[in-house]
Amino acid sequence: ASEWLLYCRPGFESDLAAELADRLGEAPLRYAAEPGAGHVRAVSVDGSPVNPLQRSLPLEATVFARQSLVALPPLETLSRDDRISPIVAQVVASGWSFESLMFEAPDTNDGKALAGLGKALARPLESLFRKRGALRRSAGARRLHLFWTAGDRVQLGLSFPGNRSEHPGGILRLKFPPHAPSRSTLKLEEAWHQFLPRSRWEEALAPGSTAADLGAAPGGWTWQLVQRGMQVYAIDNGPMDKALMRTGMVEHLREDGFKWSPPGTLDWLVCDIVDRPSRVIEMVSRWLTQRWCRFSVFNLKLPMNRRWQEVDACLGRLRDQLDSAGVDYRLHCRHLYHDREEVTVFVELR
Ligand code: SAM
Repeated sequence: ASEWLLYCRPGFESDLAAELADRLGEAPLRYAAEPGAGHVRAVSVDGSPVNPLQRSLPLEATVFARQSLVALPPLETLSRDDRISPIVAQVVASGWSFESLMFEAPDTNDGKALAGLGKALARPLESLFRKRGALRRSAGARRLHLFWTAGDRVQLGLSFPGNRSEHPGGILRLKFPPHAPSRSTLKLEEAWHQFLPRSRWEEALAPGSTAADLGAAPGGWTWQLVQRGMQVYAIDNGPMDKALMRTGMVEHLREDGFKWSPPGTLDWLVCDIVDRPSRVIEMVSRWLTQRWCRFSVFNLKLPMNRRWQEVDACLGRLRDQLDSAGVDYRLHCRHLYHDREEVTVFVELR
C-alpha cells in the first residue's frame, strides 16, 4: 500500500503530521494534513510500500493518532448510481483479503452525516467481497476500513490485529455515569482502559488502594477512584461534591497541589490541574523519583500552537529525570477521545 491513513481529533492534523515527521526521521513520505479534516494521509513519495513504516510506529506508541491503517489512494467522484464497483475493483486489484469490514467517517459534523451511507452499502459490498474471495474467514483478522470523507469519496485502508484500535473511528465511547460530579470523570476512566489491560485492573485498581487527586474539584476523577474502593486525598481549594464527601473515602485538603506531599507512599497519583505542562512535569517527576506512588495519570494542557513539540519536550524531560534517578518505568502518552486541548500521560513504576 502506498499510503498510511491515520485518524485524529479534528484540529490536531498538524500535530499528528509533526509527530510522524519527527519520529520517522527521513522517511520518504509527504503529509496531507488538511486542518479540521480529522485525519492525516502519509503518502509514499517514491511509490514504495508504507507497510514497514506503519509497523515500525505502533498506534499505541503514538500520541495523536486514533487509528492507523495502510491505505490505497482515495477513490474520488464516485457515481451516485454505482459506488460499489470501483471499490470492489480497487480491492481486487490490490490483492487484499480480510475477515471483516468497518464503515467509518471523520469525527466531524460532515462525517456524522455520512453514517447512513455505510449502512446502506454494507450488505451488497459484503456479498460481493465474499464472491470475489476478498472477504474470508481465515484472513489473519485483517480488517478493511472504508473511510468516507464525502458522499462520493472514500479511502480504503487495512488494519492489523495488535496494531489498531478496535473501536469505530478509533473512539472509545463511554457512558457518562449519572452520579459522577463532572464530565471530566470520563478522562480518567478512558485512561484506565487505554493504559491498563483489563487483566491488570484487579491488581492495579484494587479496593483499599490509596490515591492522591491534585486539582480534584468538583471530584470527577476522585469519584472514579472511590468507585474502585480507594481512599483518596483530594487536593484543591475549590469545593468537592457533597455526595462524594459523604462516602467517607475522601479527605479534602485545601492545599497547593504543586507543593503538597503525601504523608506516606500511595498507589496512585492523578492530576488534572490546568497549568503550564512544564510545571506539571516538574511536580510529577518529583513524585516518581521519590517513589511516592506506583502509578500515575496526569494531563498536560496544550493551549499553544505547536502541541507536538511541547509534548515531546515535556516527555523528554520527564524521561531524562527518571533515567538519571535510575527509576525503571513504563510511560505512555495519548490524546484520548475525552481529552480536548490536552493529552494524558500514564507512568507506572516497576
Ligand atoms: N478532575 C476534576 C474533575 O474530574 O472534577 C476537574 C479538575 S479542574 C479541570 C482543575 C482544578 O484544579 C480546579 O478545581 C482548580 O481549583 C484546581 N487547581 C488549580 N491550581 C491548583 C493547584 N495549584 N493546586 C491544587 N488545585 C489546583
